[in-house]
Amino acid sequence: MRQPLICFGGTFNPVHVGHLIIARAVAEQLGAKRVSLIPSAIPPHKACPGVRADDRLEMLHLAVQGDELFEVNRTELERPGPSYTVDTLKSLRRLHGPDVELVWVIGLDSLVELGTWRQASEVVELARVVTAVRPPVPADLDDRLALMANAFTPQQLLRLRADILPTPLLDISATQIRARVRERRSIRYLVPDRVDEYIARHGLYRL
Ligand code: ATP
Repeated sequence: MRQPLICFGGTFNPVHVGHLIIARAVAEQLGAKRVSLIPSAIPPHKACPGVRADDRLEMLHLAVQGDELFEVNRTELERPGPSYTVDTLKSLRRLHGPDVELVWVIGLDSLVELGTWRQASEVVELARVVTAVRPPVPADLDDRLALMANAFTPQQLLRLRADILPTPLLDISATQIRARVRERRSIRYLVPDRVDEYIARHGLYRL
């Protein structure tokens, strides 16, 4: 039986409990024992001053320390240029071998844009693309999926539709956390304690 590896990519700037709870919810629903958190390279115009890729990476390590479900994968940080999912999936396949089922988790916003991703059709062949959505699924979803008929085969579209998973609603974002730090407000409980301490110790997001 092929063991699924849940791959959860993001900028994680910083990682917060929303990421961890969603990733665990998907892993539980798919019976997966491993989740790979994959921080992406950030284009220079989006980068936060004073926050290096090493900081984002270190915060991820601190967030999942001692939790056997999670591993942190630095593939995208080590690759020069933009982080394309198709390249990441190829490298994960090389790393984990042929017997692992790769599951790439996205949100609903990304699902409706998936057709514009680089080599989108290959992405859904390399991995099972699972969309985490808080219920209810929007009524116009099938119409929006139909708009991607030029990018995917009918079978691929059916698979994408079938792999929509309900996940909890957590109104937490990294943007909100960065704003709270800037305004000198507490981020306690929004991020793991060790991440909170790291942000304070290194003075991240204060400017
Ligand atoms: P930012 O606010 O800087 O855009 P973010 O909080 O959305 O960041 P990312 O690192 O961009 O975090 O997110 C990685 C993935 O996690 C994305 O697919 C995003 O949709 C998803 N995600 C982030 N926060 C939540 C949340 N609270 N609930 C569900 N999914 C989330």
